[in-house]
Amino acid sequence: MNLPRSLGELRRSDFTEERLRTRRVKDELRENLICKLRRKEAIFPGIVGYDDTVVPQIVNAVLSRHNFILLGLRGQAKSRILRALTALLDPQMPHIAGCEIHDDPYAPICRRCRELVAREGDRTPIAYLSSEDRYVEKLATPDVTIADLIGDIDPIKAAKSGHELSSELTVHYGLLPRANRGIFAINELPDLAGKIQVGLFNIMQEGDVQIKGYPVRLPLDLALVFSANPEDYTARGKIITPLKDRIGSEIRTHYPATVEEGIAITVQEAWAQRNGNKLVVPKYVQEVIERIAFAAREDKRIDKRSGVSQRLPISCMENVISNAERRAIRNGEEMIVPRVGDIYSAMPAITGKLELEYEGEVKGADNVARELIRAAVAKTFDSYFGNGDLQQIVQWFDLGGDVRMSDTVPADEVVTHLKKIQGLLDKLDPIGVKSKDRPEVLVSAAEFLLEGLHAHKRIGRSEERVFSAGEKQARRTDPQPLRERDEERPFRNRRPYN
Ligand SMILES: [Zn+2]
Repeated sequence: MNLPRSLGELRRSDFTEERLRTRRVKDELRENLICKLRRKEAIFPGIVGYDDTVVPQIVNAVLSRHNFILLGLRGQAKSRILRALTALLDPQMPHIAGCEIHDDPYAPICRRCRELVAREGDRTPIAYLSSEDRYVEKLATPDVTIADLIGDIDPIKAAKSGHELSSELTVHYGLLPRANRGIFAINELPDLAGKIQVGLFNIMQEGDVQIKGYPVRLPLDLALVFSANPEDYTARGKIITPLKDRIGSEIRTHYPATVEEGIAITVQEAWAQRNGNKLVVPKYVQEVIERIAFAAREDKRIDKRSGVSQRLPISCMENVISNAERRAIRNGEEMIVPRVGDIYSAMPAITGKLELEYEGEVKGADNVARELIRAAVAKTFDSYFGNGDLQQIVQWFDLGGDVRMSDTVPADEVVTHLKKIQGLLDKLDPIGVKSKDRPEVLVSAAEFLLEGLHAHKRIGRSEERVFSAGEKQARRTDPQPLRERDEERPFRNRRPYN
């Protein structure tokens, strides 16, 4: 499409003065949204689990031409939703070329552009902004100033110019004017100082604002959207009342309601498509990872106020895949199949995302995380093996058997050891694994079963991943580790285990 390049051409195009004048940003969002609704298009593709809750409320807010706020805990896709609003903007928006605040060609508000149009008339050059370019985002912090957000003026020039307003002043525009004719998003709104909130309110209300005591007229055209932690937002005194009044809709976000929804998000977001060997992430591994987040969100040792981000299972999944990838590379295996043991190795992706209460601090992040994994394994195990009779396997360990699930031993070698545990490889039906499956798959499945028994304290497991009889059966002999490759030996027995 050949876009008009001068004001004269613009007048004769579809971007008529009449159309642009009546189409403020919120009208534009509304009209484009209505088109999408009519065509039954997905409004926010890729946002999972909000179809019946958050999405309809956002649609209503946009139809109402509201400024709105998303209230939710960390990792609930708030910023992502706000950014996705750009899909409701026109693909191209004309403005006066070279204008810092993207002035409307028919109604410029800055002095430079008014003078330019007066001088050049229909020759005034026109440029365009894409929808992505019309989104400005700011993370609120207590040290954000009026100058950052709205702008600054030179007080000496201002004094010399007498009582004239911004028309005669050189305003150094802040973020808000630079977002003119677009969407401006402020994350963590309650962290914005009261004085800045007042400035924001004045812009929303009147288009007038005071900079260094001088009144400046800035009749901006903006859709303002915000995000905040719900407790911060509702705490008395954090948000000035007139600003709160101007935010048309408050919309609550939430964590995935079901494990299935959580998995869908994690699968979509985690970096799993790696160049290399074939990757198969078993369903039960996905479930355990997701249930860690579910368990953490209910754990009283973890701070409810900050929540447990969906980024926990996402980062955990990436680390789990990497640990399995590392094993496959070292052992020269074709297929990457994550195991429950890889989840325990993914602690670095878990502990940092837990905000602990005092009780959790005392216990230590590592211990809390390990208990969460164990609880997640137990729950997942129950959903597959809840009614199965696994006594034969427990008995094998009670009679003194033990087996080591090592990362450094090729899977086919581990399988030969697993075969000694009578019945183990035949019990994997509930997770869809047959004894003739590939060794990588078999080992992962068998390890899940053993980890499940361990999570229920029916068998024991040392830190070195040796499964043996439960605590009730004191063992006499040291476990016999699987044969290791020679080059691995120096790294073994770093810690004594028993
Ligand atoms: Zn301008």
